[in-house]
Amino acid sequence: MFKKLFKIKDVITRINDIVEYNTEKYKPIVKEINNIDLSDVAEEKLKAMSTNIKSKAIQGTSLDELLIQAFALVREVSKRKIGLYPYDVQIIAGIAMHEGKLVEMKTGEGKTLAAVLPVYLNALTGKGVHVLTFNDYLAYRDAEWMRPIYEFLGLTVGHVIEDMNKTKRQEAYNSDITYVTAKEAGFDYLRDFLCIKEQDLVHRHSRGNSNNNGGCFNFAVIDEADSLMIDEARIPLVIAGKINSHRSNRYEIANLTKNLQAGEDYEFEQYGNNVYLTDKGLERVEQILACGNLYDAHNLETLTSVNCALYAKELLVRDKDYVVKNSGIEIVDEYTGRIADKRKWPDGIHEAVEAKENVCIQEKGEIMGSIALQYFLELYPKLSGMTGTAVTVANELKEIYGIDVLVIPSNKPCIRKDHTDALFVDRYNKERAIVNEIYRVHTKGQPILVGTSSVEESERLAVRLNNTGISCNVLNAKNDEMEAQIIAQAGSLGAVTVSTNMAGRGVDIKLGGSDERDKERVMLLGGLYVLGTNLFESIRVEKQLRGRAGRQGEPGESRFFISLEDELIRKYELVRYMPSLKNIDSVNKEAIQNISIISELHRGRKIIEGYNSDIRRQLWKYTYVIEEQRRIIYKKRLGILTGITQLNTLSKGATEKYQYFKHLFGERIINKVEKQITLYYINKNWAQYLNYISYIRESIHLVVLGKKNPLDEFNSIAMAAYMDIIADIDKDIVNKFIELSIESINENGIDLKREGINMPSSTWTYLITDNPDQFSRLPALIKGITEAVSGRLSKA
Ligand code: ADP
Repeated sequence: MFKKLFKIKDVITRINDIVEYNTEKYKPIVKEINNIDLSDVAEEKLKAMSTNIKSKAIQGTSLDELLIQAFALVREVSKRKIGLYPYDVQIIAGIAMHEGKLVEMKTGEGKTLAAVLPVYLNALTGKGVHVLTFNDYLAYRDAEWMRPIYEFLGLTVGHVIEDMNKTKRQEAYNSDITYVTAKEAGFDYLRDFLCIKEQDLVHRHSRGNSNNNGGCFNFAVIDEADSLMIDEARIPLVIAGKINSHRSNRYEIANLTKNLQAGEDYEFEQYGNNVYLTDKGLERVEQILACGNLYDAHNLETLTSVNCALYAKELLVRDKDYVVKNSGIEIVDEYTGRIADKRKWPDGIHEAVEAKENVCIQEKGEIMGSIALQYFLELYPKLSGMTGTAVTVANELKEIYGIDVLVIPSNKPCIRKDHTDALFVDRYNKERAIVNEIYRVHTKGQPILVGTSSVEESERLAVRLNNTGISCNVLNAKNDEMEAQIIAQAGSLGAVTVSTNMAGRGVDIKLGGSDERDKERVMLLGGLYVLGTNLFESIRVEKQLRGRAGRQGEPGESRFFISLEDELIRKYELVRYMPSLKNIDSVNKEAIQNISIISELHRGRKIIEGYNSDIRRQLWKYTYVIEEQRRIIYKKRLGILTGITQLNTLSKGATEKYQYFKHLFGERIINKVEKQITLYYINKNWAQYLNYISYIRESIHLVVLGKKNPLDEFNSIAMAAYMDIIADIDKDIVNKFIELSIESINENGIDLKREGINMPSSTWTYLITDNPDQFSRLPALIKGITEAVSGRLSKA
């Protein structure tokens, strides 16, 4: 059953072998589409054409055969209904997405419209198509923007956002086309796992869509695909309910770790990604806590708390990684620099940070279900996507999703000037140069967009600019819509906009802003100037930022300002990769204007990027087995909920009472009772299993004591535990039934509350933040333990 999980996927190393740049093969199809001239056709006739191809699709004509006609229709209707006539390059992108490819299209090339072509075609079968947007605001905006096209063509469209109720969600998912973020769709999928009535399901499980993945999906087009499929892929979505007690001595341990000394009591791993106790530190902790050997099985919880507390103390920085707000901890998103809604750190780290800051430790509830975004996306039998930056991650996309990248040429050539980076010895000189550069550009009237790495940095820069007499817009808006409105005006004459790098992603920046008359002037001034104040860990983030300027063949400029004191350079000791630095007398120089040094720096960053992605890949292997089990159990539960699976646990396991009750209440009611009990115990055991697994992940280091491979051991423990819960589910069902009193049964089955088997009255959803991800601590734990153990052995 698990064989396929262990199949090591082919590792593809040469990007150019897998990225397609040549779009020639699509041209004959584009030509055929162009040959269908519908400009004189009456509206009623166009509608009839759509009805006609829809019924063909339903009757089984392949979508490939219908493509040309469908695309020609969309093109004509788009022109009439929203005033945009899709360019040939958008048609090519549309065909490639229908083929299940990921298209790279530069920012501003019109991805939203390009997606409508494959979305319409694939929605014709009535099985539902999802457009997975970057945020809630874009789900709403894009659905409304494209609605006239779909509705004219006889298809329904809906969108889902966070605060919608169940009925509205059902309505949206039952539409032919649904615009929704992957997170919302994923949370809904998790909520469906807790339903006790079929009519409460929000996704289309019961409409014949069920496929082998245990999913209920058909086709998705992912917007800003690299962000979701790579950057966020490993983030688990979590649904929790009920309350369980938290670990008690967090505060004591946080105080204890405050007094431990770095370098003496604990040490850091390479690049400072992890921290672990030294022998000396271990002894000190054992002494203070008077707990005996910290590595004894009964101290496991304390050991985990100490490790988490150290992590919280050293590796999570207040006002950078999180802020303390409303007497609680709120996580700052590393990509957007904004406070991330509903985010928690995994496995005890969140509580450790709460204890470190001495705020109230929030109950985290019991995890009832969880799925990582990557696995959620894999539930779609057909996936495609679009983004401005896919090429650098083409390897990973192929490896993880088996998806190919096609680079679509821009409609008009890009004439943006990407200036060489400006490199400085220290931050002081860099920041001074940034202010000077903004001043220079701004006095000309040229609009400038400054991309920083955090809200805090944005605000610091804004103060400096104000002191220089430059007023600017700072993006620290609380919601995506406000942010979108500000960003949309960043191209206005003389505008200075300061924002974190990813803010307002997906929003169009028009030169001249809303005033068409200013467009010409801004173009003459050189278009939008994008200034980056840091190198980013991901090369794609940098490209995205540059891509804000020079859209649709318009002029634009971009330049990055970097200093050797920047966090990225220090953290990864990138100067190691810059041997030419030695050749210059840098100490007395403010700016390092040396091309070879700058290219060495970029090479170093690429090496680091590869290194990080290798680590993630390794650690990710700890999730495969659990995901496969999850699929099996979800499918099983869904079969029971929808009545597809016939139950026979009670007739076999509690035959006498079953027969007696059947006689008393009738078969229909007893079947209902069995269904209710079964659904409950599947959830209960699965929740217990998830909690057990998170405990195993924390304690897998014990395996090292026995010199075994932790991954093998983890997998065999997980499989054995899974087999146990499968058996436990049946046992629990029978036991519950045996103790069931007659009074608890009525027309509706069991009085669940009275019997204490009701689902939690409230559940909540959150994301587990990827950084630090729950597995990244494993090597440190293992290393710490190995060293401690070998230290002990050598002492003995
Ligand atoms: P992207 O997501 O690729 O950055 P958008 O979908 O936001 O781009 O579109 C960018 C801009 O291009 C929008 O203002 C849109 O109206 C315009 N646009 C898109 N397609 C066309 C077209 N075929 N003709 C004219 N304008 C278009």
